[in-house]
Amino acid sequence: MKRLRELHPYVYGEQPNIKGLIKLNTNENPYPPSPKVLAAVKAAVDGRLRLYPNPTAQALREKLAKLHRCHENNIIVGNGSDELLALATRCFVEPVSEGGVPRRPNLGSRGARPSGIIQYFTPSYSLYPVLADIHGAARNAVPLKSDFSLPSIAELKDGRGKPPKGGTPNRWILDAALTFVTTPNAPSGRGYSTRELDALCKAQRGVMVLDEAYVDFAGENALKLALKYPHILVARTFSKAYSLCFQRVGYFVGHRDLIAALHKIRDSYNVNGLGQIAAEATLDDLPYYRANFKKIIATREWLSRELTKLGFRVLPSRTNFILARPSRFSAPAWRQSLRVQKVLVRWFDRPEVKDYLRITIGTAAEAEALVNAVRKILTRR
Ligand code: PMP
Repeated sequence: MKRLRELHPYVYGEQPNIKGLIKLNTNENPYPPSPKVLAAVKAAVDGRLRLYPNPTAQALREKLAKLHRCHENNIIVGNGSDELLALATRCFVEPVSEGGVPRRPNLGSRGARPSGIIQYFTPSYSLYPVLADIHGAARNAVPLKSDFSLPSIAELKDGRGKPPKGGTPNRWILDAALTFVTTPNAPSGRGYSTRELDALCKAQRGVMVLDEAYVDFAGENALKLALKYPHILVARTFSKAYSLCFQRVGYFVGHRDLIAALHKIRDSYNVNGLGQIAAEATLDDLPYYRANFKKIIATREWLSRELTKLGFRVLPSRTNFILARPSRFSAPAWRQSLRVQKVLVRWFDRPEVKDYLRITIGTAAEAEALVNAVRKILTRR
């Protein structure tokens, strides 16, 4: 298939197995899951592995419904939130090409078929354009403002953003079939207020996913908007704040009709049994995790101050990572020098962020090691 031959897949963060490497490149949590979670998973490893897990993650959905004060019909659990983001594209967006016969994409600003458009801000989570390409949907990438804040509704309607390269339309399309908003934003770390997100929800007519992968490190969340509007889904994950990347558990909260539509097309047993058990046990031990959020936030603020003193321009973050523009030499050169010092950070070869490093917040000791490595590099160069 032509579309597949030309597809640029999602670029994963490296997972190298190097002894002593400080891994600050994939926004993993530096603290392990709670001892109660580890015990629950270990206790479940026995002959029952031969059985299929609960197909709807019923017990987990019940616990989540209680936590979020909604009904279990407002919740779908996925194999990581990535699975649910992909399901949403299949569920709510008409592919541009059908039956293997490519149709000319009919793009937004030039008279779009909104039912075939996936819309998102740039920069944001780099999976969204890949999902659009896999599905054969038209992409509408609309730039955030230069400080990564959200354009106002008036600005979005006017399309006052800078025209992106490659002729992609940048006028915001209120009835795009599916819109993804990373909030707090990745990779900038910037937080958005519930008030401005509410205004966006009110204006938007197509389905919109508020991707709150990092929200536990922010001051506020927009979950209530998923329960207020019929076209809004909030995406959450156990990966980052709850130290469970390995188990792959994420979920959507939203109107029961949207959730029912997603349930119709998911795999029968999309959430593995040990993942369900780990996530349930996590919800039984939330104070353990809340203490970790506090530690990570304190380290984030300390590291931001220290790197600023060393000449980095650090953007304020509401997440478990920071975006920092180094001085003296280029961001990719810094990435390489830090790697030599056994500190792994992320650099994105994308125009809006190519001058920055994205640094995951590790433990206090890891943050200190990073600062020491930066000092060493600065004195050597
Ligand atoms: N959304 C955002 C913004 C992310 O950065 C990630 C992690 N790369 C995800 C969703 C997916 O997380 P997971 O599939 O581990 O739940």
